[in-house]
Amino acid sequence: MTLRAYRMPETACPGCGEVVTVAAFVAQNDRAPRPGDVVVCKVCLAVGSYDQRLHIRSLDLASLFPADRAEIEKVLAYLRASLN
Ligand SMILES: [Zn+2]
Repeated sequence: MTLRAYRMPETACPGCGEVVTVAAFVAQNDRAPRPGDVVVCKVCLAVGSYDQRLHIRSLDLASLFPADRAEIEKVLAYLRASLN
């Protein structure tokens, strides 16, 4: 896995309003973020997804398939532990 950072269209976190211009993540494949990808805010840990313009919109975890939700909750648990 490789840590990558991509310059993104300016958008704001739907959870805290933080202005976001960069997406950084551990990529398992070599591609830039695209519409539908899940994103977690590094400030407030709100979960969202990219819309067609690559702006972040809220994402209700309850709307996801259980396996997808479990995967995101693992990531959130890791991030919460690493921030404390
Ligand atoms: Zn946020």
